[in-house]
Amino acid sequence: MNRGNLFIISGPSGAGKGTICNHFLNDDDVYLSVSVTTRNKRNEEIEGVTYFYDTVEGFERRIQDGKMLEWAKYGDNYYGTPKDIVEEKLNNGINVILEIEVQGAFKVKEQMNDAVMIFIVPPSMKELYQRLLDRGRESIGEINKRIDIAKGELKKAIYYDHIVVNDNLKDSVKKVRNIIDERKEKTNLISRLIEELE
Ligand code: ADP
Ligand code: 5GP
Repeated sequence: MNRGNLFIISGPSGAGKGTICNHFLNDDDVYLSVSVTTRNKRNEEIEGVTYFYDTVEGFERRIQDGKMLEWAKYGDNYYGTPKDIVEEKLNNGINVILEIEVQGAFKVKEQMNDAVMIFIVPPSMKELYQRLLDRGRESIGEINKRIDIAKGELKKAIYYDHIVVNDNLKDSVKKVRNIIDERKEKTNLISRLIEELE
């Protein structure tokens, strides 16, 4: 059995990363990594499904204990990816999606240079602002902070393997699914050729 492939999905808050990723929840060949965060849990969120919620002390202990594949500060909070489960899924042939911000994305790429990096952008920044407003999850102050962070994130987009403009949601999901399938085809082909030599 081939090892699974690792996919990193980043993009400005409100671009639609979560919405796109949720479409893969029922796909057997894909595991959506569940991150740890120190930010407050929101009403609609589920512990252990959306995130694992921890204190700052708890999070820092996880870092010290070497439990995190990567971590970063976004706004005033820590976010990070638990290491063991990602390794376990990849070893079992399952593709893993990390929906993480840019600093963490590059930390992962340094360690796993075959990771496929996908950057999701909105059709316009006006549309992004409207999506954040309509989502109704953050205060105007928090939305403005996220837009501010978006500028730095967009400057890193060019280093990603793929940029997907999330205009029509169905099309975006299809594009990401195609990226996953293409990588799978490539890894299958290469390992078949190597097997022939053995
Ligand atoms: P992110 O995870 O990138 O912060 P979300 O997935 O929460 O963004 O999406 C932000 C908001 O935009 C949500 O309310 C979502 O329903 C909406 N949304 C996502 N994709 C689209 C799209 N293609 N067209 C219109 N609205 C969208
Ligand atoms: P939110 O508060 O909207 O859930 O997430 C804020 C930002 O943190 C998003 O850009 C999201 O992709 C990012 N994020 C979520 N989990 C992780 C993680 O484990 N590591 C890193 N580096 N960023 C994360």
